[in-house]
Order: sequence, then C-alpha cells, then structure tokens
Amino acid sequence: MNERARVTDAPPPAPAEAPARALPDAQTVTEVTHWTDRLFSFRVTRPRSLRFRSGEFVMIGLPDERGKPILRAYSIASPSWDEELEFYSIKVPDGPLTSRLQHIRPGDQIILRPKPVGTLVLDALRPGRRLWFLATGTGIAPFASLLRDPETWERFEEVIVMHTCRRVAELEYGRQLIEGLPQDPLIGEMVAGRLRYYPSATQEPFVRGGRITDALASGKVFADLGIPPLDPATDRAMVCGSLAFNLDVKAILEAAGMREGANSDPAEYVVEKAFVG
Ligand SMILES: Cc1cc2nc3c(=O)[nH]c(=O)nc-3n(C[C@H](O)[C@H](O)[C@H](O)COP(=O)(O)OP(=O)(O)OC[C@H]3O[C@@H](n4cnc5c(N)ncnc54)[C@H](O)[C@@H]3O)c2cc1C
Repeated sequence: MNERARVTDAPPPAPAEAPARALPDAQTVTEVTHWTDRLFSFRVTRPRSLRFRSGEFVMIGLPDERGKPILRAYSIASPSWDEELEFYSIKVPDGPLTSRLQHIRPGDQIILRPKPVGTLVLDALRPGRRLWFLATGTGIAPFASLLRDPETWERFEEVIVMHTCRRVAELEYGRQLIEGLPQDPLIGEMVAGRLRYYPSATQEPFVRGGRITDALASGKVFADLGIPPLDPATDRAMVCGSLAFNLDVKAILEAAGMREGANSDPAEYVVEKAFVG
C-alpha cells in the first residue's frame, strides 16, 4: 500500500466528558494507520505517571470474550518526550491479540500496563562514535523511538539504520519516519548529515535486495556507504528482529570484537527479540 492509499483515522472530536474507564490501565486510541494488510501503527493516550527510556517496551492488550486480558509485549515506537504513545504492530490473522487489535479505532480503549522494561536503551552502550540500528520487520519500532530522541544524537556522531523486510511496502512506516527526521522541529538540525538509511527487501525487486547479515558479513554495506568496517573502539549496535536474525547478527558483531551490553554492564551492542516464536 503506498503513501496515498494508506488510511489514517483522524482523532474524533473531544467528547464533552471523558468516557468511563471500563478497563484496568485503560488508554484511549487517538489515531490508527494501516500500512499494509499485515502492518498498522496506532497512537494512544499516555498515562501521566508513565516514565520510560526510548527503546523500552510495555505490555499492552485487550480483554477476551470473558473479560480476561490478552497481553503482549510491545516496543514503544514514540520517543520518551512525546505526550502520546505510538506502537507499530503486526497483524497475525489468528493471533490471540492482533486478530482483535487490528480492528481498533480512535476512541476505543486498550489495556496498557505502565511498567516499561528492555535492553535497547542508550544506557546499556558504552560511549562511541557510530550507532547502528539493525532491524527486520516490526523490529524497527524501538528504533522509531530512539531516532526521535535528542539524546541519541547527543551521544553519537552518526546513526546508520539497516532495515530489512520481505516486501517493499513493509518498509514504508520506517521510510516515512526516517526521511521526515530532517524536517522534525525538535531534532531536524541535529540529524542533518548524520543519518544513513540502508533499507532492503528480500522478496521483491527494490533498490537493494538481500539480508542485513549478508551485507555486513560481505562488507557490502561498508563499501556502499563509503565507511570503514565495524570497529569495537567506535561502533555500537542495537539489534531487533527474529531469534534467528538476532543470533546471526550477534555472531557477526562478536567476530568484529564487540561484546553484548546490559543496563548494569554497558558494552558495544544490545539485542532484543521483536517477537517470540
Ligand atoms: C520484547 C518484545 C517486544 C515486542 N514488540 C512488538 C512490537 O513493537 N510490534 C509487534 O507487532 N509485535 C511486537 N512483539 C510481539 C508481540 O508481543 C506479539 O507476539 C504480537 O503482537 C502478536 O500477538 P498475537 O497474540 O496476535 O499472536 P502471538 O500468539 O503472540 O504470535 C503468534 C505468532 O506470530 C508471529 N509473530 C508475532 N509477532 C510478530 C511480529 N511482530 N512480526 C512477525 N511475526 C510475529 C510469531 O511466529 C508468533 O509465534 C514483541 C515481542 C517481544 C518479546
């Protein structure tokens, strides 16, 4: 689905009185955008008390027929300073949560447990010069948050985003977000000339095909961007994709002399699963 064909539901006019909060930890949907038949993004109100670090995830969900919550982990795709929360979601046809969640509309409520956690945070990385965001599919979500956080640009001189999907249309959420950053009133000036975007599609013709792992292992990405190879003294990386992708990228980063970091022990790279299974 191209940019023109996407459907954005504008938020409804503000009701005279806020609706009764029937769900525990309820938040109200303010906007829904369907990107493809498999992907959508949405925004919800943010609990006043919710503090999080860009890149973290929370549990969100909907009640089932008997009112029991179906909760799943979701990366917050909006930056920590945003007044609302944004999420970017898969639609699994028979998935317990997303078979329902894909039908939300502005004004609906979702459950949001306000306990953010996660490893894809700047605090888990040692200071460096270049920061790599390596993502497949919805794994771009935590980086949509970090890319819009001024702290990312204060800590690193250059940010390189590698994002791979099967189909070209599946890159569109990330593409629009990344290509819009230089016009962003808050961080536009910080981003100028410091962001490299390297998308690829594996199952459709595109300017670039192939996997992130192959582009890193073969050195193609360094040649294409005219930059030196990974150096543990200067490079830091955040990885978010399927389990297989994460393991393959970890092997490449470790071979380059980089070590996995954690909140309690910052190092050269961090990893998080984009989904389980
Ligand atoms: C730390 C963490 C963060 C996550 N962040 C996000 C996020 O930001 N956006 C998001 O859409 N999902 C995210 N997920 C996955 C999410 O928790 C759910 O699995 C997803 O919403 C589907 O829920 P479901 O109940 O419909 O199906 P589930 O029963 O949860 O999943 C059914 C199957 O669908 C596949 N699947 C699930 N999620 C995905 C996905 N994102 N991409 C491709 N295949 C998938 C898997 O094979 C899985 O076994 C995250 C998972 C983890 C562990």
